[in-house]
Amino acid sequence: MNLRMETTYPVLCAWCGTTTGQGLVPHSHGICPPCRAALVGIPQLSEAQLGEMPFGVIELDPNGLVLIYNKAEEALSGLASSQVIGKNFFRDVAPCTSVKNFEGRFRAFISSQSEPETFDFTFRFPGRTTKVSIAFVRSERASAFVLVKASTETVRLG
Ligand SMILES: [Zn+2]
Repeated sequence: MNLRMETTYPVLCAWCGTTTGQGLVPHSHGICPPCRAALVGIPQLSEAQLGEMPFGVIELDPNGLVLIYNKAEEALSGLASSQVIGKNFFRDVAPCTSVKNFEGRFRAFISSQSEPETFDFTFRFPGRTTKVSIAFVRSERASAFVLVKASTETVRLG
């Protein structure tokens, strides 16, 4: 049977927000091919290059200790890298992420061989909230990059 009457919905790239195609489920997200290519290239960048990225770059070891915290993330969070390097991200830096939808995802990601993962999240800072797109990208030294982009602005990778 050929169902030609089915409704399709735009599928948005969870990282850059462009429409990547049509799907059968409303509000579905994927990662568009250019973003996927750029995200998997993140671990090859130097620390200086990561520092200049227009979105937040945080590298976490498997236990959640902060290894890298770039300038864009400093601007987003209001915390200096010197305040957060070596601390536990989920406990000491951003306790609002100590939930299933962030730390839980991170732990599942770090213990799997999964592809880059993206999802939406709301950071809760004292007195304000910031909606962001989050991407997890595996690093070669058994750590992972957490990339943070404010949802209100469109920042293209690459
Ligand atoms: Zn994209």
